[in-house]
Amino acid sequence: MKQKVLIYRCENYEPASIAAIVKEGMQELGVTPRGKILLKPNCVIAHEVFPHAYTRAEFIDGVIRALKERAGDGIEEILVGERSGITVPTRFSYKNAGYEEVLSRNHAKPCYFDEEKQISVKLSNPYRLRDSMFIPKPVTQCDCFINLPKFKAHPWTRLTLSLKNLIGIQDDRHRLVDHNSFLEHKIADLQETIQTDFIAVDAIVAGQKMMLTPTPFPMGAIIMGINPCAVDTICSHMVNVDPNTIVHLRLAAERGFGPIDMELIDIGGDLPLREVQDRNRGFEFCMEHIDSYFKDTGNLSCTVGTFPESHSADYCWGGCPGALQEAIHIFKMYYPDVLQRMRKVRYVVGQVEGPLDLAPDERVIFAGDCTRWEGTLDGKHVKIEGKYRSTKEVDENRTPSNDMLLKIFGSLLECYANTSSRYIHAKGCPVSVAAHVNYLSSIGRIPNVNFDPRNLIPINVAYWNMRFHRFMNRFL
Ligand code: SF4
Repeated sequence: MKQKVLIYRCENYEPASIAAIVKEGMQELGVTPRGKILLKPNCVIAHEVFPHAYTRAEFIDGVIRALKERAGDGIEEILVGERSGITVPTRFSYKNAGYEEVLSRNHAKPCYFDEEKQISVKLSNPYRLRDSMFIPKPVTQCDCFINLPKFKAHPWTRLTLSLKNLIGIQDDRHRLVDHNSFLEHKIADLQETIQTDFIAVDAIVAGQKMMLTPTPFPMGAIIMGINPCAVDTICSHMVNVDPNTIVHLRLAAERGFGPIDMELIDIGGDLPLREVQDRNRGFEFCMEHIDSYFKDTGNLSCTVGTFPESHSADYCWGGCPGALQEAIHIFKMYYPDVLQRMRKVRYVVGQVEGPLDLAPDERVIFAGDCTRWEGTLDGKHVKIEGKYRSTKEVDENRTPSNDMLLKIFGSLLECYANTSSRYIHAKGCPVSVAAHVNYLSSIGRIPNVNFDPRNLIPINVAYWNMRFHRFMNRFL
């Protein structure tokens, strides 16, 4: 049977119009939500300096109104669950995104996945990367899972849509496991952990290039469907991308989670695909290796070596290089001239052979557990030894907490202890975006955005609130 995907015209964030469109979409697709309903938006970050990174509150407002009209008394509870990115407490992002007000007005509840118990779910797909994955308890308990991604480009996976949105169900402890050259495989694994009942993609204003700091692209569309592969396939075509080049989509389709072939998908709605494709010709991506991306742009230069996994020996798309790009773009939102104002930094990643030919005042960040280099710095012999562990060697039951404060103070202390050294080796696989911000701040002498007055107090209030509720949830 063919999967159906609907593309509807929607030019602005007006909740009543969104509700009418989503209700029509549910009717057309035969979706009738029941029981405990869990909505999963993309709220990777929300802040005045990150205005286009998240599913908008007005969109959630419209979807909840549509759900209530469609399901009536069949609804037991509506939860809106997410784990924000870069270790920022989800409470902080929800507040900034305006979710709290919308949820309270609609008698729906926030569900912060970083505060919930994490449950190990067994996987059985023959092509799986791992045998089990951790997901938050409320995801395992809902009767109806509704995926509400934001339509965005992504510097690691080209696009982030409904399949990739599931990365946001994992807490900090488990999110970075396999968040390296296996990221696309991990996204495919996640599809086995939950059955999606309905998808509505916020493409009213889409995001281009980056995932945390995208530039806005008015796309004027809402895309709906039930099958995530079918929805992501149509979304790829909407921006003139061959869906087979979205690796996690191809993997998910190969594993039997849905179609990638247009012959197996029926398109409906009131916005013809051809018209959208023409309108979206200028949609911008950023899939560039960091050595060319930062070449001649300022005081950051990159030396990229080779990587341990044979399927991506020339580059690690899901790990440290992309995290560096995102971190620099975060700084740019605060200090647009950051690449000029920072001290000279060389970023070295992967197995690198030969001298680095540093400028006299240039310092080095050796990034990640796979990085190896041997040579002479300031007349001294230096050997950076890789401690990369393959997927089989990483036990998802024994992972570091990746706590926000521990990360900030850990990396700052490490930089302080190496103040007089030419280099620092940032450990991790991957070194997260958050850790990159801290290392770059110290080594490049850039003000740390974590200490920006707009963030310092609210983020710490949210952090301690999160810690308290996480502790209390242990006893539930
Ligand atoms: S250490 Fe970084 S660059 Fe190396 S494999 Fe891991 S994530 Fe990729």
